[in-house]
Amino acid sequence: MISVDIVGGGVSGLALAGALDPSRFRVRLHETNPGFIKLGTVLGMWPAAMRALRTLGVDDQVRAVGVPVESAHLCDSSGRRLTFHSAPGNSWLIPRPDLLAILEKAIPGEVEWVHGQVSDPAQLTGDLVVGCDGVRSLVRDTIFGRTAHQTGVMAFRGIVDGPVEQYAPGQHGLVEYWGGGALFGMSPNTRDVTNWYTATREFEVTPQQALDWSREKFVEFPAPVRAVLAAADPRRTLVNRVLEAPMLTSLVRGRYVLAGDSAHAMAPNLGRGACEALVDSAVLAKELSTQPLERALRRYNERRVVAGQAVKLASAAVCRTALAWP
Ligand SMILES: Cc1cc2nc3c(=O)[nH]c(=O)nc-3n(C[C@H](O)[C@H](O)[C@H](O)COP(=O)(O)OP(=O)(O)OC[C@H]3O[C@@H](n4cnc5c(N)ncnc54)[C@H](O)[C@@H]3O)c2cc1C
Repeated sequence: MISVDIVGGGVSGLALAGALDPSRFRVRLHETNPGFIKLGTVLGMWPAAMRALRTLGVDDQVRAVGVPVESAHLCDSSGRRLTFHSAPGNSWLIPRPDLLAILEKAIPGEVEWVHGQVSDPAQLTGDLVVGCDGVRSLVRDTIFGRTAHQTGVMAFRGIVDGPVEQYAPGQHGLVEYWGGGALFGMSPNTRDVTNWYTATREFEVTPQQALDWSREKFVEFPAPVRAVLAAADPRRTLVNRVLEAPMLTSLVRGRYVLAGDSAHAMAPNLGRGACEALVDSAVLAKELSTQPLERALRRYNERRVVAGQAVKLASAAVCRTALAWP
């Protein structure tokens, strides 16, 4: 029996705990804030994430709750279309709390939950310690000696009642507007709720100040942007500094492994952070289940280190392009 300490019960930690066979792995899942979610903003689940969810046997549940992504429009601040993409089949939007609830339900009863913050990963006794502890990962900071850095960008996001069509008639999928050093995007959250987000250069604000700034900044953007912002409420608005994980050349050090944002936290512009976290967990679980430990970790690293860092850099490039758009 291999013992595994998973630090963090977010997207990657829950997925990994659900994917390890309890007859072969004794799993302890450590989570500081079980069940804590600030706001139910949406996560895009692209095809690779849906395949990872399939290995957990929960992709049908995601489809049952989620909204399919049909298309993605990119426009400038006058509303002129810059690009249009039909979304690849099997791409879904799902509120984060619903995704976490589905992943949590798939965890076998044998998994031991430890509620509380891990303060020293070196004290954990597992044969394997997996850092699924997010962008500010203690496992990465202390064992790999690498910390996350500020990107100088911040994101405001929130949800407003009513479907996207109410704000942007004829619009069903994702739409994003770029211009003047900021971007504004909207998408379905559920069928009856709209998710919105903006990104801009970093400055210090409360949610109310973020909305005041956004209403002024986007006053000349097309009508759907102004309509969403008019409906937005500071109690349903999040303000986040965007951090990025450092460049890592290995996700494995001895018995320690990184997965999800601890390994490759990225700018949110491609909507891929949680997707890559799910892929990490599915790949790690598959390798651990089919290979001896040392070989499994080597294969996990070979399959995920470059892929994760590359998506992180691609996301940063899109972020820079969006904020440089005149
Ligand atoms: C504005 C924005 C929009 C986004 N949109 C998308 C999107 O559309 N699609 C997408 O795929 N991704 C998106 N993401 C990224 C996504 O949210 C993250 O990539 C994803 O949550 C990473 O999952 P994780 O499990 O690695 O980390 P997290 O979800 O951060 O989970 C880490 C967990 O570890 C716990 N923890 C931390 N330290 C400790 C400790 N010492 N002891 C115990 N527990 C600990 C935390 O409490 C937390 O629950 C977005 C991110 C942002 C900021």
